[in-house]
Amino acid sequence: MYEKELTCPYCLEAITILLDMGSDYNSEIIEDCEVCCRPIEIKYSFDEDELIYFNYKKIEGNEF
Ligand SMILES: [Zn+2]
Repeated sequence: MYEKELTCPYCLEAITILLDMGSDYNSEIIEDCEVCCRPIEIKYSFDEDELIYFNYKKIEGNEF
């Protein structure tokens, strides 16, 4: 597993999540923030063991 830090888009706390490196193409997961427990939609890609794409957002459409 690959540890990745991100800033929760809801509560703005720094959290660490674990990414599965076994899935090598456009993985999409939902992780609950460990601080506020709200769901974050995370997309990522690995090339071998290198993280080549990482993006995340709130799961609702109300980003603004
Ligand atoms: Zn949070």
